[in-house]
Amino acid sequence: MTWEKIKGQEKAIEILQADIESSRVTHAYIFSGIEGIGKELAAFEFIKALNCENSYANICCESCTTCNKINKKTHPEVNIVAPQDNIISIDQIRDLQKDLILKPLGIKVKCFIIEESEKLTLESSNCFLKSLEEPPDKVVFILIANKKSSLLPTITSRCKEIKFTPLSYNLQKEIFKSWQLEENTINILIDFCEGSPGKAKKYLSYNIQYWFTRVTTWISKLSKTNSEDCYQICQEFTSINNQELTSIILDLFIYYFGLCILKPENNSFSLNNTILKKLIALVQQTKQNISQRINLSLALEVMLLNIMEAKYEQ
Ligand SMILES: [Zn+2]
Repeated sequence: MTWEKIKGQEKAIEILQADIESSRVTHAYIFSGIEGIGKELAAFEFIKALNCENSYANICCESCTTCNKINKKTHPEVNIVAPQDNIISIDQIRDLQKDLILKPLGIKVKCFIIEESEKLTLESSNCFLKSLEEPPDKVVFILIANKKSSLLPTITSRCKEIKFTPLSYNLQKEIFKSWQLEENTINILIDFCEGSPGKAKKYLSYNIQYWFTRVTTWISKLSKTNSEDCYQICQEFTSINNQELTSIILDLFIYYFGLCILKPENNSFSLNNTILKKLIALVQQTKQNISQRINLSLALEVMLLNIMEAKYEQ
């Protein structure tokens, strides 16, 4: 398996392959685009194609020692720099620079993948800039980033950007079907994952279909305006105690209210669209409040009470 395992990024792959074929490989690239759409996979394919002992045109053999080591992420000349405590520190960049001055050993091109490069601090960015300005021969940097604009212009101006795009509706459907998921789950995933199979995998790992059923039950109970139910739902919701899952569940509330607007027959509340839109805004505000570390149980309780009482507004 080589490039073809990266789905929906034909344009990006074409540019990388053309760079190899025409010996126009530059010393620094930015692979930009949302998470989970194949940027890291493409980086490793690119590095293998550059370094494979039996490469033909732009395709690696997948069986030589170099390919094997790169696949196992154990090649000493293929370095991965990832954020630690949510930043890429100047010390990490200084370590990279110590390695950089050593000649490539047992490989054609020494490679550095900087993951989540938007997490370079100002200090580490400026330090890294020196390496970009005067790169040694036979070195390639690949900066992985959600957006080119999240990096300093002094850095981006010295890199070639390769854009990775979200996957089309049809391609997502094809991939999710190949994962043998139910139609309902596929529909939720397509709505949620923003064209990113990587994100879809994350949602599946949280059992998104189960939580959607749970959210539907909660909303149905809230529609009966029983404070005791509301209190119990709040207890259950608060006890999840996982910020990422809490955020996903809040997104499922938004998804549910959105569905009520699109398909009024699903609307167990019989709320009008104005109120439903207000509820969507309310959940979005709750998400924001929680991300700003406002008391979780209080934020959820206020939201659930508001949902429960929404029908009196119309
Ligand atoms: Zn090989």
